[in-house]
Amino acid sequence: MQRKSKIIISLSVLLLVVLAAAAFCIFFDEAVIVRKNTIYRVRAADKLVALTFDDGPSPVWTPKILDELNKEGVKATFFMLGAHVEKYPAVAERVAKEGHEIGNHTYDHHVLIYYKPEELKDEINHAERVIKNVTGVTPKYFRPPKAWLTQKEKVIIGRMGYKVILWSLNSKDWVTFHDKQITSYILRRIRPGDIILFHDSGGAFTTEGGDRAQTVKTISRLVRKLRERGYKFVTISELLEGAK
Ligand SMILES: [Zn+2]
Repeated sequence: MQRKSKIIISLSVLLLVVLAAAAFCIFFDEAVIVRKNTIYRVRAADKLVALTFDDGPSPVWTPKILDELNKEGVKATFFMLGAHVEKYPAVAERVAKEGHEIGNHTYDHHVLIYYKPEELKDEINHAERVIKNVTGVTPKYFRPPKAWLTQKEKVIIGRMGYKVILWSLNSKDWVTFHDKQITSYILRRIRPGDIILFHDSGGAFTTEGGDRAQTVKTISRLVRKLRERGYKFVTISELLEGAK
């Protein structure tokens, strides 16, 4: 085979691999694989839905998201990173003061499946201490970075007093470029008792520095459309109380 055609074939294969990886990220939600023994939605008697925001607080995006939630009169749940709470304590305090629920999303956003039990406990306790010191809140809910946890880790975390919370609807706000697209994706799939995943910090591959403008814009539009359909917005605690 000529060198030129070999290069063309290699490049085509590479392009296909990149496209397949992108499609996987956009259309597939890996959390589906690890839902066993976690709470990812509830069977609610009423049309309840919980908005959740991960990876914050962010000094840029969290205040904007809080403004939007206030405007619509919605209480949400923020799964915070200990490291970000330490770096931006005033923002974390504001989230708590405005009546939103705060969950633990680890200290440093490492994927936990390779951790030894003691390392896992240290990571979670570290984040818990920081969140408690800054906001006065002891979190009851834990969300693992990227959703990944082993079954054994779920047991350990349960013994630490936490409920593991994933999500049933992934807004994919970190790879979607338009708020209308995010809203229509959710509106097509929404069911009572859903937990929706958003991010108030982070880019595609980092926990900071991303652009959450589409997330901010989505809130009002989504809340209004869902209210038209009779949905009520609740925190994770309220959602669990409303379970059948
Ligand atoms: Zn995260």
